[in-house]
Amino acid sequence: SKLRVGLLFGGRSGEHEVSIISARAIANALSAEANSQKYEIVPFYIQKNGVWQGGETAQQVLKSSEATENPAITPNLWQFPAETAEIDLWFPILHGPNGEDGTIQGLLTLMQVPFVGSGVLGSAAGMDKIAMKTAFAQAGLSQVKYKAITRAQIWSNPCIFPKLCDEIEATLGYPCFVKPANLGSSVGIAKVRSRQELEAALDNAATYDRRIIVEAGVVAREVECAVLGNDNPKASVIGEITFDSDFYDYETKYTEGKADLLIPAPLPETVVQQIQEMALQAFAAVDGAGLARVDFFYVEATGEILINEINTLPGFTSTSMYPQLWANTGISFTELVDQLIQLAIERHTNSK
Ligand code: ATP
Ligand code: MG
Ligand code: MG
Ligand code: MG
Repeated sequence: SKLRVGLLFGGRSGEHEVSIISARAIANALSAEANSQKYEIVPFYIQKNGVWQGGETAQQVLKSSEATENPAITPNLWQFPAETAEIDLWFPILHGPNGEDGTIQGLLTLMQVPFVGSGVLGSAAGMDKIAMKTAFAQAGLSQVKYKAITRAQIWSNPCIFPKLCDEIEATLGYPCFVKPANLGSSVGIAKVRSRQELEAALDNAATYDRRIIVEAGVVAREVECAVLGNDNPKASVIGEITFDSDFYDYETKYTEGKADLLIPAPLPETVVQQIQEMALQAFAAVDGAGLARVDFFYVEATGEILINEINTLPGFTSTSMYPQLWANTGISFTELVDQLIQLAIERHTNSK
């Protein structure tokens, strides 16, 4: 009989819409001839308010993105759609907070069935840019200078704030990047060039997250590597992103034609190998499993490679970097989804 795959998408995050498109692409791959004999898709749509919808509603959102929101209820996550009890394996394709950060992974762990991707630790450490950078530093990976701060330092104490800004100016300088620690798709990120911009960006970032990171700005090419596997993961060819905007912000990421993906990236072979090696080290450093996309800065003038971040549930639409990197490495989208499911089963078996 077929394996019932619970496809979890939507979610309580700013990347809700991207998640739906990723899920649609994965559902198509699961319905492809090679997979449809093995897997039955059972979709679950998580509304923006956190309520889970199964059945017809989930099918409808998967097909057309038009959702009938169930507005009245305060999400009671213990009232799941009945079909959740019949799921053999979960495929969460949720991006950002409440999906990529270990929260859903904790719930799925409690359900005692396999699920695709990293567990609680890998997801949480991969989401929080402060924890992530601590793990990367420990693994000896090169990265930009940064400073970790909290919302309380920005908002609660008017005496601390000016000193904090002085310190950022002295240690990181301009331009620097202000980021909420636990987000994605560049939401809440600002590139700042002056004291006034810094103060405004810190205040804004604090509206998104309790934890904030400020990084020294680097002028570099942006390259990414895909990782696939559990304890013996593989690294893909390298992809490069090019764009005309100031940085790879939300608009550049999601407006058709604003960014180009170049696969494979035109890089010397030694640089490719170094990036692949670093991607695998980063994956191990956060305890990644299944999949991850690791983002780097390549400073061509000096040959320096700096790790930027890891994404444990990267964009998975048919045009996203992650599946395209594997397609160029010899693993089609259809095969990729199959391998991820097999890796989930392997990890579940080994963790017993
Ligand atoms: P994703 O959608 O990949 O999860 P994210 O929201 O986690 O993105 P980052 O990858 O940290 O955000 O940063 C987004 C973009 O901002 C980068 O791709 C790059 O263009 C720019 N950027 C971030 N940090 C720096 C930096 N320190 N120096 C230069 N550019 C940076
Ligand atoms: Mg990210
Ligand atoms: Mg992300
Ligand atoms: Mg990124």
